[in-house]
Amino acid sequence: MSTGSLTVDIDALAANWRALDALSGSETAAVVKADGYGLGAAKVARALAKAGARTFFVAAAQEGATVRQALGPDPQVCVFNGHMRGDTDMIGDLMLTPMLNTIGQVTRHFESLPGHPFGIQLDTGMNRLGMEIGEWAAIAEVAIGAGPMLVMSHLACADDPDHPMNAQQLAQFHLMTDGIAVPRSLAATGGILLGPDYHFDITRPGIGLYGGAPFAEARAVAHLDLPVVQIRNVEAGETVGYSNSWTAQRDSRIATLAAGYADGILRALSGNVTLWHGDQPCPLVGRVSMDLLTVDVTDLGETPHTLSLLSATQTVDDLAALAGTIGYEILTSLGPRYQRRYAEI
Ligand SMILES: *Cc1c(COP(=O)(O)O)cnc(C)c1O
Repeated sequence: MSTGSLTVDIDALAANWRALDALSGSETAAVVKADGYGLGAAKVARALAKAGARTFFVAAAQEGATVRQALGPDPQVCVFNGHMRGDTDMIGDLMLTPMLNTIGQVTRHFESLPGHPFGIQLDTGMNRLGMEIGEWAAIAEVAIGAGPMLVMSHLACADDPDHPMNAQQLAQFHLMTDGIAVPRSLAATGGILLGPDYHFDITRPGIGLYGGAPFAEARAVAHLDLPVVQIRNVEAGETVGYSNSWTAQRDSRIATLAAGYADGILRALSGNVTLWHGDQPCPLVGRVSMDLLTVDVTDLGETPHTLSLLSATQTVDDLAALAGTIGYEILTSLGPRYQRRYAEI
């Protein structure tokens, strides 16, 4: 095989959804935006529907089209960015449910698709998407009269359970929605872990489904194995890779692997990550190139065909910590060149 192999553990994905569903105590949706967090929206959505998810969220209407085609007519496919100019036909034809974010979107939706399902997104302090309390007050009666399927908001700091912003946003959400007879949603993965006060009628986990923090009990979903292109002997004192950033301290064997920063192996990992041959560590040496990695395999007793970068023992969060980012960015950076396999491992 000439490119890396990205194996998506469908069994683990379904198990993560069921575990979060058990914690939710209300309906549990599934967030499959950004191509299912980089793992393939159509396949991921089908697996989650099979596990029991009935409501799916994407960021943009275009992504909703993919999910609708994968799932057929029954599941609800909701769009966080709401009803944007130019999306009317897609929202109408594919029965997408936009989460309306502004009075302008409400007007556009009611005028262009009267009677078509919608939800409302409220801003409770994150200042990113949704109507603030004043706008909401101006339009709430009309909007509620039209029967939204959902009123939702999003937490800014839910990955930090001790952050005072959580309680503040919860109070604001109550203030803006108490007493209305519409299903409510506040919690993503982090919010589910904050406990039942945050769950309301429907939760919206994303990252936890895909094996990422803050869902510590998550099973790893992404497994990445990279093929060895060639192996060479390097003498002590020779250098490897761009800018001569690594110098062999001893006579070494260096494997060149077919993956690089164009495949989402962030350049910040240069000289700073370990690949694995079973339980044997093989340090990355030198810079991450666009298409290649160089790895010290001197201590391996054998010549490997592939080395592992992501597994149950080295997770997306481990890589994120090494690269100074978050698991979300590691996952959504995984490029299009990998051979993707969907397996129950
Ligand atoms: C991305 C997103 C989610 C899912 O968040 P996770 O932290 O991945 O669980 C839920 N709701 C909104 C509005 C989002 O943008």
